[in-house]
Amino acid sequence: MSFDPILIRHQLHQIPELAFNEYKTKALIKSYLDSFGELKIIEFANSTALLAVYSHGEGEYQLFRADMDALPVEEETHCDFISQHAGLMHACGHDVHCAILLGLIQEVCTSKPSVNALFLFQPAEEGKGGAEAVLAEGIIQSYPIKAAYALHVNPKLGLNQVSTKAGIFFAIPQEFDVDFIGKSAHAAFPEAGKDAMNGGIKFYQQIKAEIAELVHEEPLIFHVGKISSGAIRNIIADKCKLEGTHRTLSVARKKQLNQMIVDCANRVAKEEQLLCDVDFLCSYEPVVNDPVLYERFVETCKNHSVDFIPSPIYMTGEDFGFFTTLYPGLLFWLGANDPDHDLHSGTLLPDDACITNGIKILYQLL
Ligand SMILES: [Zn+2]
Ligand SMILES: [Zn+2]
Repeated sequence: MSFDPILIRHQLHQIPELAFNEYKTKALIKSYLDSFGELKIIEFANSTALLAVYSHGEGEYQLFRADMDALPVEEETHCDFISQHAGLMHACGHDVHCAILLGLIQEVCTSKPSVNALFLFQPAEEGKGGAEAVLAEGIIQSYPIKAAYALHVNPKLGLNQVSTKAGIFFAIPQEFDVDFIGKSAHAAFPEAGKDAMNGGIKFYQQIKAEIAELVHEEPLIFHVGKISSGAIRNIIADKCKLEGTHRTLSVARKKQLNQMIVDCANRVAKEEQLLCDVDFLCSYEPVVNDPVLYERFVETCKNHSVDFIPSPIYMTGEDFGFFTTLYPGLLFWLGANDPDHDLHSGTLLPDDACITNGIKILYQLL
C-alpha cells in the first residue's frame, strides 16, 4: 500500500487532541504503520507513544521523532480539512511533523536502505514533557542510538528554507506558580484581614527588579502572564496566584532564578504576614545541537539545494531537549511558508508543500 503524506496531514489536522490524549491520532498513525511488514511496532504502556523500528542488521540506530499533540485553540482557518474537534487545533504544526515522519517511513520501507532507524511518535510536547514520559519507559534506551533528529515547522521561513545552529538552540523553560494566602475582611476593617493581593503585587515588583539587576551575559526571560486575586471591590483578597515562566540558557542560571523566586516570595510573605507556596511545574532540558550533526546537516542542505539559514538562539523550549541531553541530536526549523501567522495562533496553516521537503531532508540525513 502506498499513501500520500499530505492526505495524512489533512486527516490528522481534523482530529487534534491534547497532550497525552492522542488516542485517535495514535490509532490513525498505527493503521498506516501496520501496513508495512518491515517494521516492528512498539506501543508504550504509559502514554500514546508509538515506536516503529526499522532494522537492517547489526549496528547503531538513528532516531527520528515527531510530536503528536495539539492545542486548546479554536481554529480560524478556512481550510477544507478544518479541525472537527471544537476548541482544539493543530496550531503548532504537529500534524505536519507526524505526516512527514510517516512519509519518511514509507520512503524507507520502499527503498530499504542498509541502516537502522527508530521512528518515534511522541505525545505531549506542549508543556507536558511527553519526551520525559517516553524515556521513563526505558524502551528507547534499549537501542544503541548514535543520532536523534527532529524538525519543527516555522511559518516565517519559505518553503525551501531550513534553519538551525550548533550548540544551544532552544532555552530551558521553567514554569512556576506563586501563591500568597492571607485573610479576607471588609475593606473598612483592614486590621482584621491580611491582604494577599498586596503580597502578590509586592512580589511581582521586587522579583522583576532583582532579575533586572542580575549581571548576565546571556539572554534570559522572566515573565508572569497571569495574576488572579480578589472577589469584590470592598473585600480584602485572601488569595493571590501568580503564574509565570522563565527561560534560561544554563542549568546553573535556572537554579539561581528558582532560588530567587523562593527567597523573594518568602521575604514578602513574612513582611506582609501571609503564607506563601511556590510550585515549580514543567521544565525541559535545553535543546543542544551536536556540532558534528550540525555540520552534516549544513552539508546535506548544500548538496540538495536546500536554502540553509544560520539561526540565532530561541528562548522557546522543546522537550526534544531530553533527547539531545542523552544522545547527539539535531533539531531544525523547516520552512512552512505562512509568514503572516504565528505558531499557536488559530490562523496558522503551514503549507502542505513543506511536507515533501521535510521528508526529503530527513531521508538524506538517514
Ligand atoms: Zn507549540
Ligand atoms: Zn510545536
